[in-house]
Amino acid sequence: TTLASPTTKDLYPDWKPGEPVPYAALCTTFSKIEMTTKRLEMLALCSLFLRQVLRLSPDDLLPTVLLMINKLAADYAGIELGIGESLIMKAISESTGRSLQHIKSDQNEIGDLGLVAAKSRSKQPTMFKPKALTVPGIHKAFLAIAKFEGQGTQGKKVDGIKKLLSAADAHNAGKNIDITKDKGGPSEAKFIVRTLEGKLRLGLAEKTVLPALAQAMLSHEYLQKGKKVPSTTEIAQAESSLKSVYSELPSYEVIIPAMLEHGIMNLRENCHLQPGVPLKPMLAKPTKSITEVLDRFEGKDFTCEYKYDGERAQIHFVAHDADMELATAAPAAGKSEKGVSNIFSRNSEDLSKKYPDILAKLPTWVKEGTKSFVLDCETVAWDTEEKKVLPFQQLMTRKRKDVKVEDVKVKVCVFAFDILYLNGEALVNKSFRERREHLLDAFVPVEGEFAFAKYGNTNELEEIQTLLEDSVKASCEGLMVKMLDGPESSYEPSRRSQNWLKVKKDYLAGVGDSLDLVVLGAYFGKGKRTSWYGAFLLACYNPNTQNYETVCNIGTGFSEAILETLHSQLKEIVIDRPKPFYVHSSGNKDQPDVWFEPRYVWEVKTADLTLSPRYKAAADEVAGNGKGVSLRFPRFIKERDDKKPDQASSSRMIAEMYQRQESVTKNKGPSVDDDF
Ligand code: ATP
Repeated sequence: TTLASPTTKDLYPDWKPGEPVPYAALCTTFSKIEMTTKRLEMLALCSLFLRQVLRLSPDDLLPTVLLMINKLAADYAGIELGIGESLIMKAISESTGRSLQHIKSDQNEIGDLGLVAAKSRSKQPTMFKPKALTVPGIHKAFLAIAKFEGQGTQGKKVDGIKKLLSAADAHNAGKNIDITKDKGGPSEAKFIVRTLEGKLRLGLAEKTVLPALAQAMLSHEYLQKGKKVPSTTEIAQAESSLKSVYSELPSYEVIIPAMLEHGIMNLRENCHLQPGVPLKPMLAKPTKSITEVLDRFEGKDFTCEYKYDGERAQIHFVAHDADMELATAAPAAGKSEKGVSNIFSRNSEDLSKKYPDILAKLPTWVKEGTKSFVLDCETVAWDTEEKKVLPFQQLMTRKRKDVKVEDVKVKVCVFAFDILYLNGEALVNKSFRERREHLLDAFVPVEGEFAFAKYGNTNELEEIQTLLEDSVKASCEGLMVKMLDGPESSYEPSRRSQNWLKVKKDYLAGVGDSLDLVVLGAYFGKGKRTSWYGAFLLACYNPNTQNYETVCNIGTGFSEAILETLHSQLKEIVIDRPKPFYVHSSGNKDQPDVWFEPRYVWEVKTADLTLSPRYKAAADEVAGNGKGVSLRFPRFIKERDDKKPDQASSSRMIAEMYQRQESVTKNKGPSVDDDF
């Protein structure tokens, strides 16, 4: 057999070499993945399919991988689908000729718009056979739908979706699909709609697709060289190399072409962090006390930095005479006489439009000889008269978009605490001590504009205590304690690492860290609050099952002004029924008055944690007989608009907090359930 000819193992035989990847082939794979819950089987199916792509249509590898992880582009491009239910229902109705009422009642019954689309499409009589959809074609169409803006956007989006749905399931058009069988099977309409909703419901995450891609590439290279199968060691090497490249350079747009050019085993040498491609920031583990820090870092040298309370910012810069270019052109990159710069949020969103003032001043903080860099910083609101840090709430009053330098009222100061790249070289694998030296060498602080995070290197309890108190006096949240030397002190992108510990002032009492939770539902207010929602149902996220598990009702910590704003935000995303991936008690009296799409994340504090039959958070992990962990006396702190719902506190973290608390308070009496 030649490389191009189909093999018996192929998941989708009806696909000729050189043709664009048929979308039906991807949907067949998705459908097989949907039928299993085993991660290894999913991985094998993905890898098998990607091998076929590499063999028959390698040019389409990028859109295929993107659709598999349900993305249209790398995060920094800021392109998202997440189209609302009503728009999709309209498109289904108009493209299949079924009334909106029918579609709505189907949705009420089935609870999965994908299946509703599959059913509606299969009922439709067809006049002519539409042209089959392809992966690159559909990726392009999704991009166009996501990018529409300005007047008439909604109509354009509906038209775009209608076109896709009319072409869906060309091979099955007119046939009756039984949506109760095989979860609706490989219907294209089903997967189109789920992609539009932003949720494929396959349990397929990047942690499966990434190793599948590495395996597929390695096997493909073997096949090309006429060799048999790679060894398990080689597979492990390929996987770890791709994973580590991806953590430094989370952009398939950059990695896939490089992988095809250099081969998977040479990828590591050829692909490094690049200014212009934001990496996911390293995060810290919470601790309850300074003594816990001393226990964890015993015998190691560490440093204590102020934990500034602002917004994380990753600043990228390339000077015009740096002999290189910014790897991506984020739309609002700041250009100056000296060079081009970008600023990214914790979520890799482009913040250039929010902070043009930072981008304008940036070149003045850079020493001669500093030609390119990636900085990890916190932007903090700054009191220009008192010359000190202002609380986080001040920063939140800044506009997020289209800010003009001349209009900026809330000034910010950038506090830099790490440097990940300098003058053409990635520094992430250097020790923190070295990175800090580079940082201090390459920049000049300017009062009220740019500063280095304050720190003290000490292992003495009293001195750390003093630093903590001083940090709080300086309006900081507490301390970040970081390992200084050796491989443990390297920068670990996207990890909540043991080597960074946070000690917050308010840890010293209560449960410790605050939680970031997703709003799933609300209750109408009573008394003064009748025009708004008075209380809300919150949930944590379980990345393993991709479910949202409820954790508390909350009615405290809201001012009237906030309740009013929240109401106007939330009423836009009301849905008729809970999503199938919401896990909550089924008791009648436990149901909220309205349900929402999972969109908003709120930071919440709690007095302590307890088990409750009413909530389901971490129910599988705490062995509480179906009871979940819930928060007692939860209090609203603020909205976290820098976090997406799937970045909310995880069930695992809540289970750990509960277990830690239990081991401390074992001998206390039973706790009561919350009530508001
Ligand atoms: P939090 O609600 O505490 O900000 P988080 O999940 O956003 O939690 P953590 O890992 O808990 O992030 O805390 C680290 C955050 O603290 C960073 O994301 C950054 O925004 C901020 N920060 C402030 N000062 C520092 C510093 N000196 N070093 C590292 N991070 C700092």
